[in-house]
Amino acid sequence: MTAPERMRLLRVCIQTLAAALFIAALWDFYQYFNWASYNGPGEGPPFYPRPALLEAFLPASALAAAKNFFSGYGFDSVHPAGLTVFFAAVLISLTARKSFCGYLCPAGLLCELLSRLGASADKKLGSPLGLPRRPGKLISLLISCPKYILLAGILWVIFARLSPEDLRAFLDSPYNKTLDSRIWLFFTQPSQEALIGLGVIFAGSILTPGFWCRGFCPYGALLGLFSFLSPLAVRRDKTNCTYCRRCTRACPARIAVHEAARVSSPECRGCLECVAACPVEGCLKVQAGYRSEKKRLRRAPVWLIPLLCVAAMGAAYFLALYSGHWHSQMTPLELKTLHRDIFMPN
Ligand code: SF4
Ligand code: SF4
Ligand code: SF4
Repeated sequence: MTAPERMRLLRVCIQTLAAALFIAALWDFYQYFNWASYNGPGEGPPFYPRPALLEAFLPASALAAAKNFFSGYGFDSVHPAGLTVFFAAVLISLTARKSFCGYLCPAGLLCELLSRLGASADKKLGSPLGLPRRPGKLISLLISCPKYILLAGILWVIFARLSPEDLRAFLDSPYNKTLDSRIWLFFTQPSQEALIGLGVIFAGSILTPGFWCRGFCPYGALLGLFSFLSPLAVRRDKTNCTYCRRCTRACPARIAVHEAARVSSPECRGCLECVAACPVEGCLKVQAGYRSEKKRLRRAPVWLIPLLCVAAMGAAYFLALYSGHWHSQMTPLELKTLHRDIFMPN
């Protein structure tokens, strides 16, 4: 097996493991929600603990908790796992590009799979809608805009509109305490509007690569901005390049790798698909450093990006677990009462 093939296999293994953990957390949440929201006769389903991992999908709550943390209010005790994952994802982006998106995020994996489905359907059916799978630069830029607008709105509310006291009140509110259950209901019992929105995202992801990630995810937008500071990046050796564009065609983020000297785009997920696709030995490599002079750059092993990504997330998890910052401080009685009053009132 060649080195690029090994890198591809490593990414598939990490993504599969992350997706398996996510699916296991969904199953746990299903049982937890059945217990928490039961309001019928008798005792109902036995107690099931709330899985913490799904707090990773409450980014606005994590951002509010981060501001509160830096305002001196301590580590969030309602959704501490969400804040832990957020800090780890930022740390990963500061060092190893947006590899949280490229290796760990299950939504990103789903986006990628839908995009591949669309690409293979295009090959078989000959692009029936006639839509270009690689839009031009201007269209690509326009597609990226909504997520920055969404991010700006969220940052403005959290950092400019709400005081630390307001945020403390929000974090302690019944709404925030049951936010994971609200998201659960959004997907398991969707309203008509939610179904239309989800249908648009699914169809868009099949027709346009990275429709959700590139266009609408504010979490990815924020991580992309942090990734500008990452010293690790894919670099292209112009002197060896044959301009065959295989790198660009392989890139799931649709970056024009064949035109870049250093891939510093905020869309780059450090997935290394471009490196694996390049037929010229050593033309694309991972290097550390921001300068353009070759002698100031250090070649880094290609596995450094996935290693930093997995190690940072693993270290954050164990640190949080053993310091008591992973599981929520909400008691089963509080959770049961909140769920009964909010979701299953008599
Ligand atoms: S952009 Fe958002 S949904 Fe996509 S992989 Fe990144 S965090 Fe996940
Ligand atoms: S795949 Fe390699 S040789 Fe081909 S354009 Fe990209 S960097 Fe150049
Ligand atoms: S430029 Fe390379 S490493 Fe970055 S997202 Fe595209 S394929 Fe992955």
